[in-house]
Amino acid sequence: MAPSEDTVAALATPAGTAALAVIRVSGAEAGRLAEELLGRAPPPRSAIRGDYRDRAGALLDDVLFTFFPGPKSYTGEDVLEISGHGNPFLAQRLLEDLHARGCRPAEPGEFTRRAFLHGRLDLSQAEAVMDLIQARSERALAAAHHLLRGSLSRELQVLADLVIGALATVEAYIDFPEEDLPPENRAQLRQALQAARARARRLLATRRYGDLLRDGIKTVIVGAPNAGKSSLLNRLVGHDRAIVSPEPGTTRDFIEERIVAGPHSLRLIDTAGLNPSPAPLERLGIEKTRACIEEADIILLVCDAAAAGPAPAAIPPGLDPEKTLLVLNKVDLPEAADAALPTGWTGVRVSALSGEGCDELTAAISAKADRLLPEDGPDGVVINARHAFSLQIVQDGLGQALTKLDQEIDSVLLASDLRGALNAIGEISGKLDNEQVLDRLFAQFCIGK
Ligand code: GDP
Repeated sequence: MAPSEDTVAALATPAGTAALAVIRVSGAEAGRLAEELLGRAPPPRSAIRGDYRDRAGALLDDVLFTFFPGPKSYTGEDVLEISGHGNPFLAQRLLEDLHARGCRPAEPGEFTRRAFLHGRLDLSQAEAVMDLIQARSERALAAAHHLLRGSLSRELQVLADLVIGALATVEAYIDFPEEDLPPENRAQLRQALQAARARARRLLATRRYGDLLRDGIKTVIVGAPNAGKSSLLNRLVGHDRAIVSPEPGTTRDFIEERIVAGPHSLRLIDTAGLNPSPAPLERLGIEKTRACIEEADIILLVCDAAAAGPAPAAIPPGLDPEKTLLVLNKVDLPEAADAALPTGWTGVRVSALSGEGCDELTAAISAKADRLLPEDGPDGVVINARHAFSLQIVQDGLGQALTKLDQEIDSVLLASDLRGALNAIGEISGKLDNEQVLDRLFAQFCIGK
């Protein structure tokens, strides 16, 4: 798609009843449309109140028109924003009128795609826009802000400069084939390539942080039947989501809910009880629970403090104490007065029934999550799956180049590895145009963004 061939329009706010509905128009015709609708040349970047009349002159809405002349607009093109009343029927009438005046409906992500094509954002910053919209925790917001402000772009530039420098050295010798790379240049080259590879590796390691930020920290509730797992999930979620029953083994399918603990977003999962002598149907649930525990980032082991007490023997084998928080539940019952934590385990005394201790539990979960996702992550940069795919190519290419350098293999082949690495870096920021990558990436955006 070439930039600014058409003028596009779309609703930028959710399609429902709300206080406001904002329609965005972007493209070469936006200025003419603004003038036509306002009846005069629109002043730049000022909200002007006016009647929105359709082409037949009928009054549709009382709106605010804001005109942003390009290139200093979100898309880099002329942009008109129309804020009207948040009635989906009304917004539709306005859009139909804009289409009749020569706009076409914008595709998902088209505004941001135009911003990218006009050099307002690079590709990793365009992704940050989506991260920002979808962030569900303070940590995720902070990471999206860093990305939007170009933290990854800057890292990639340093990486690219190292590879370009190395490539220049290698290519100089390709042009003068009678000379071979002297040892001092080899040593310099090795240093540059090792530094670049270390940077690529460091960036790749942040993939884990990116996944935790975007998907949420997988927090699994386990424990014996009737310990109060479903009650605890309901309490942490803040409403009745799971069935609570005095009948053991009622939760055979997993229930998953999103919650926020401090600055973190968690995927909270209630599992089947770990019954040591289960019925056949229950056994299936228990196997699934074990698999779920394997993948958990945090485990909440719920114990009935009023029952026998969480003796170490009651703790299922294989639970990692680093990942696990013991939740001594039912402390509202007098029998729970003496229940103590086994040594070597951290835990909290709670009553899922009354809510006692639940704030402390949330704080303890948040503290565990802090270890997984320290504030700002490493240098504020966290990558996503697309970045990781390309960075892996960068790291492999640099590794191959280093091997060739050590084995004194022909410089032409070495240069080809380095060019491959450089292309992969370019793909992350979008400096190398790849229509397929762009189509896939912007299709994930909503219409109007
Ligand atoms: P699960 O099988 O581990 O999911 O346990 P449930 O959440 O279904 O609870 C089992 C029983 O214990 C139900 O009768 C709950 O009402 C009761 N229960 C759960 N939490 C508490 C608590 O904190 N205090 C008391 N007294 N009863 C609880």
